[in-house]
Amino acid sequence: MADWLIRNGTVVTLGARNRVIGDGAVWIRDGSVEAVGKARTLATRARGAQVLDASGGVIMPGFINAHTHLYSAFARGLALKRVPRDFMGILKELWWPLDRALTAEDLRASAQVALLDCIRNGTTTVIDHHEGQNSQPGSLDILEKALRRTGVRGCLCLGVSDRDGKGAEGLQENIRFVEKLRRRRRSDDLVVAMFGLHALFTVNKRTLESVVAAANERDLGIHLHVAEDKVDQEINRRRHGMSVVQRLHKAGGLNARTYAIHCVKVSAGDIKLLADAGACVVHNPQSNMNNAVGVTPLARLLDAGITVGLGTDGMTADMRDDVRACHLLHKHTAGDPSGFMAESCRLLLQNNSQVASRVFGRTVGVLRKGACADVIVLSYDPPTPMTTANFDSHFLFGLCGAPVSATMVQGRLLMRDGTIEGLNEPRVRAEARRRAGSLWRRMGKS
Ligand SMILES: [Zn+2]
Repeated sequence: MADWLIRNGTVVTLGARNRVIGDGAVWIRDGSVEAVGKARTLATRARGAQVLDASGGVIMPGFINAHTHLYSAFARGLALKRVPRDFMGILKELWWPLDRALTAEDLRASAQVALLDCIRNGTTTVIDHHEGQNSQPGSLDILEKALRRTGVRGCLCLGVSDRDGKGAEGLQENIRFVEKLRRRRRSDDLVVAMFGLHALFTVNKRTLESVVAAANERDLGIHLHVAEDKVDQEINRRRHGMSVVQRLHKAGGLNARTYAIHCVKVSAGDIKLLADAGACVVHNPQSNMNNAVGVTPLARLLDAGITVGLGTDGMTADMRDDVRACHLLHKHTAGDPSGFMAESCRLLLQNNSQVASRVFGRTVGVLRKGACADVIVLSYDPPTPMTTANFDSHFLFGLCGAPVSATMVQGRLLMRDGTIEGLNEPRVRAEARRRAGSLWRRMGKS
């Protein structure tokens, strides 16, 4: 693997003590960050390394998408037979028919094109939640191959659900994949796994208990949608007499490895249970607004000490869209024009790093010695001074719109000067369009 010196840009390290280093450089050896500092100092130390010139740019850690669905790429432009009127309608008219129609070839094409978009937008890590009721066995292998081929770092799971009577099969796919990675586990592996559940309103008692047992036995977390809409709470209360979070807790599935997505409709009691367990919550503001499900109580979750990360739920490959949505949504909802800048930036730029580092067992999302060399270069020549103190403002109002010129994951350069390396991008996109068209036709006939 090549060593790299990315130099002549402004380095932003992120991490607990963010540093903004003018005329900076990042030296990369064996897929990890070797040193960060002034370009002139590192140039002599990193003699022999390949040079990536970042003049007029910002060198920073790649973005982490803490919740996405690679399979959802084919939803763009899809015409629905009936117009959904609520969250259940969106599932029944769009997402469930789409995931039922997915074949292995569709998934391969949709994942590849979605990952190309990640590379183009500087997203170097995805924590994916897969669904595909009629193509579950082997589906995680397909996603794994797409990650390895494109070079994006990823954590995979399949969302187990009983909605089509295939909960046991879904669990088996999670177990098979987890065990496969375990057998050849490398500490620097680009791909890791968690257990997945769709959401508790589509999961029966036996399936929930089996998934919890399988995950706990292997010290792995469960990645699931929690109280995304009121319907999740209503169904769980009606059938089980408990809130979603209470039911997860009672089943033994709520702990520090739990990965709870959305938490829009959570009570004070639910928030306390999540906080006491040390669970992570992932906020997806654009998705919540798009589905009109309500506003996640972000301030209350953060005040309770919960690590809240930021995801896109498949809405976009660009994390910067969601950080801006987060900032504006919560400021607007709270009626506080000075609020939520630091909080929104913290979700993406700090909390996602903590969450991903926990999931991957390595330091991800920070530029410091020993961290994974997941680095991007943004074309950004600031019109005003940019310092550590005012970085959030530059991020939200400048870097969020800056083109990504280079993307690197674990020391492998995936895009340079806006060109994807080692992949025929037009061919991948053409194949995706062909597959999507065919999937839409099948859905239209079902
Ligand atoms: Zn989701």
